[in-house]
Amino acid sequence: MSNDQSAMNELHWLIDMVQTIEVGLVVLDRDYNIQLWNGFMENHSGVSPNSIKGKNLFEQFPDLQADWLKKKMESVFVLKNRTFISWEQRPYVFKFKNYRPVTGRADFMYQNITLLPLASLTGQITHISIIVYDVTDIAVNKLQLKSANEQLEQLSQTDGLTQLHNRRHWQDCMEKEFDRYSRYGDAASLVMIDIDNFKLINDKYGHPAGDKVIQHIAYLLKQALRETDCAGRYGGEEFGVVLSKTTAEDALNFTERLRKRIEESEIAFENRLIKVTISIGINDLDSEIDNSSTWLSGADKALYLAKQQGRNQSIINK
Ligand code: GH3
Ligand code: MG
Ligand code: MG
Repeated sequence: MSNDQSAMNELHWLIDMVQTIEVGLVVLDRDYNIQLWNGFMENHSGVSPNSIKGKNLFEQFPDLQADWLKKKMESVFVLKNRTFISWEQRPYVFKFKNYRPVTGRADFMYQNITLLPLASLTGQITHISIIVYDVTDIAVNKLQLKSANEQLEQLSQTDGLTQLHNRRHWQDCMEKEFDRYSRYGDAASLVMIDIDNFKLINDKYGHPAGDKVIQHIAYLLKQALRETDCAGRYGGEEFGVVLSKTTAEDALNFTERLRKRIEESEIAFENRLIKVTISIGINDLDSEIDNSSTWLSGADKALYLAKQQGRNQSIINK
């Protein structure tokens, strides 16, 4: 075989491979006119190479983010360097439908893209190649893993009965709020809530009824909160609330409204109506509080007083 023949063969094979490889290959000239459009691109876009050759990429695909993509390509032309676009940056460049049954959860093909400068024989960059990798499987797996991890994290921070923060996570919130106070002097109040005579409710109506009462109070508490407040189930029938940017007087308004709502409400359980009340201790931050446990124990002290003085009331720690 002559050298020429062998080179011809090689070229023939290369063209075959370019046509059939499971990677998208596009070549554009300086004006973004399409010079090469391989089988992968044809299969996924439904546009054949013959019908698209010589036409402008952005006119053929108005969905492409022209401004953004041109900027990327210009820098490839000027800097003579390849550039990568990851699916994590932008899920896709070409909007192709995803047909893969395994990854039925994605509607479109996730893509990694390489923009490659192509030099002429004289070394000038006259063309650019777009290489499109289908990374749908990888992307979907990674996204599923991420969402599973987020769900796990959420679960590990949430109390199962009430969907409030659990004790540990609530304590984290409280410590963060205390740090904000130490740094910026932001006002904040800590509220401890305990259901009155809860043992009697368990005794009279049974433990499941008691659980329902806890859920009911958590529900009313959640309704009363602002976005920036943080409420948790501190113990069995005790709740902790951090009210950010709130003085003791404002906290008292908050707890008294909640206390009255609970006092007025009734919880239906197996044809019976249960009524409960709560006692509340409030402690706002001041210069004498030098760590978060002192802050908490001040609220506990006030709660203890509220119980002593007859329950169903809010007391501010002095
Ligand atoms: P006080 O007014 O002084 O608070 O009286 P109390 O009866 O509520 O006393 P205390 O706060 O010590 O009561 C806690 C009781 O709550 C003890 C326990 O049986 C009950 N309890 C704790 N966790 C749960 C729970 O998850 N579900 C139910 N149903 N009861 C619980
Ligand atoms: Mg208690
Ligand atoms: Mg109690």
